[in-house]
Amino acid sequence: MTEAKCTICGEPMPAGEEMFKFHGYSGPCPKQPIPCEKPSRVEVAYGLLWMEETADQRVHEARRLLLETMSKQNQERGINAAKGMNLCRRTGDRRTTTT
Ligand SMILES: [Zn+2]
Repeated sequence: MTEAKCTICGEPMPAGEEMFKFHGYSGPCPKQPIPCEKPSRVEVAYGLLWMEETADQRVHEARRLLLETMSKQNQERGINAAKGMNLCRRTGDRRTTTT
C-alpha cells in the first residue's frame, strides 16, 4: 500500500485518515501548500510548448490539449520548469520571418 499523503501540504496523512485526500477531516490542514513541488511530466511538456513561439497549429493544438487537464498552478509550475531547463533551440531553424 502506498503512503497516503495530503494533496495540500504533502505531509503523510495521520493514522486513521489514510483514506482522505487532505487534512481537514479532523482539523484544518496544518501547513501551507508546498510551493516548489516537483513538476509532473505533463506540466513540463506544457511548459516547453508554451515557450515555443510558432505559427505551427500542431504546437498550439498540443498545448491546448494539455491545458485542458491542468490547473493554473500546474501551468505555472510547468512553465517555470521549462524555463529552468535552458534547452537550446536548434540552429538552422527554418522559421521564416514575416514579410
Ligand atoms: Zn495537509
